[in-house]
Amino acid sequence: MNNKKGFTTTILHSDRLLQPEFGALHQPIHTAVTWGYEDVNGLIEVFQNKTKGYSYSRQGNPTVAALEHKITQMEDGLSSVAFSTGMAAITSTILALLKKDDHIIASSYLFGNSRSIMQTLIEIGIQISFVDATSIENIKKAYKSNTRMVFVETIANPVTQIARLDEIGNYCTEHNLIYVVDNTMASPYLFKAIKVNASLIINSLTKYIGGHGNALGGSVTDTGLYNWVNFPNIASVLREQIPTDLLGITQIRKRGLRDGGGTLSPEAAHSISVGAETLALRLERTCSNALILAQFLEQHTWIKKVNYPGLASHPQHKIASELFRGYGGLLSFELTDKIDSLTFLNRLKVVIKSSNLGDTRSLAIPVAKTIFHELGAQQRKEMGIDDSLIRLSVGIEDIQDLLEDFTQALS
Ligand SMILES: *Cc1c(COP(=O)(O)O)cnc(C)c1O
Repeated sequence: MNNKKGFTTTILHSDRLLQPEFGALHQPIHTAVTWGYEDVNGLIEVFQNKTKGYSYSRQGNPTVAALEHKITQMEDGLSSVAFSTGMAAITSTILALLKKDDHIIASSYLFGNSRSIMQTLIEIGIQISFVDATSIENIKKAYKSNTRMVFVETIANPVTQIARLDEIGNYCTEHNLIYVVDNTMASPYLFKAIKVNASLIINSLTKYIGGHGNALGGSVTDTGLYNWVNFPNIASVLREQIPTDLLGITQIRKRGLRDGGGTLSPEAAHSISVGAETLALRLERTCSNALILAQFLEQHTWIKKVNYPGLASHPQHKIASELFRGYGGLLSFELTDKIDSLTFLNRLKVVIKSSNLGDTRSLAIPVAKTIFHELGAQQRKEMGIDDSLIRLSVGIEDIQDLLEDFTQALS
């Protein structure tokens, strides 16, 4: 297939077109840890980046490579590296590219663990400013001469704020900053971060891309838009061996996988690849269910507030409509004091009390007492997290069953 096909067609035929053995339609699960060579020169050439090939599975494996290729296709990117988790992808990307005294501007509404790894990075000498990224002015104010990277998420969890993705992209291009977009919450089906000039796109494959809550994984995709030639932190040995457009992603693979060891297993890569085949179908259903539930909850007298980008009341509804194909599967809501949030949660029978998101099943969690518990009351208040806030990751159940579940739990 030479001419570009649609999103789902491309993913379904991706393995086949890499021509695995016997005309297999799936890339097999290669469990080998190491690869042998008849001629030792073959091994040497792989080590010296002179030919493509495999040496040791920590830094590359054909099953994982087939998944990386699919992610690259989904994001319209240049090249991707898969990791054991989304957090491994984020940590490895930052550690591979930045040095002590480099400065990052990060959204203040980050996924909880992304926020806490950044606190750790501050302790080892990376400077990080957290700003409200829904306005470009805050990014401009935080800029310093040692700023190297801007890090944002597409739809923030749990309050669903949407960063000013397009204007930040233009600003990063003008100032030669690495623009990292964590696209986990929108997924490449709903949003192409390359359109807003992202340099690197992070995905937690555990969430929508894998989709079934049965495998952990993460990835980073280089869109090819950032010019690595003048980036000062690229190792000189790579500059001698690697084409200039692949300098960034190669340094991430070497430092993150070969040295850091955050490697995705081939079994998990296979599960995620199979899940990815139905990403578009699942998201169509999830987005439709989420909008119906958000509208239902918004008009209910016992609900104080609903956060969902698909509602006209959402502060970034307009930009979400411009940039995204759908409004995603995550919503959150606050309850009035007529009903206790924990009692309410325990009355739900179809919706499961669980901390994951992007699963085929609907999952709900009281965020202040769980994910954001360690932050303390003051920081929760700053992040707009009310004590009664419930996060709901909407699944693909039949909408009637979800509506009935919420109706009975709120009665
Ligand atoms: C879950 C999540 C991560 C971390 O992914 P894991 O695969 O759980 O490590 C990172 N960013 C966002 C936005 C997430 O939702």
